[in-house]
Amino acid sequence: MSVASPCDICATGTVEHTCDRCGNLVCERHFDETSGFCVECTADMSGDVSEQQPDPGDIYQF
Ligand SMILES: [Zn+2]
Ligand SMILES: [Zn+2]
Repeated sequence: MSVASPCDICATGTVEHTCDRCGNLVCERHFDETSGFCVECTADMSGDVSEQQPDPGDIYQF
């Protein structure tokens, strides 16, 4: 069996890399060489910081 598995994200690209975080097999387009993670993990990590939602109860404190 030497069938190459497709990218875990787009399911069409040829696997070129393995994510160091989640282990996804991803194609070149869905791998971030800077971090060594797949795009899902990089989006996940940046989202943790920028998408923090404030407590709704504290918004209307005028
Ligand atoms: Zn892909
Ligand atoms: Zn990943």
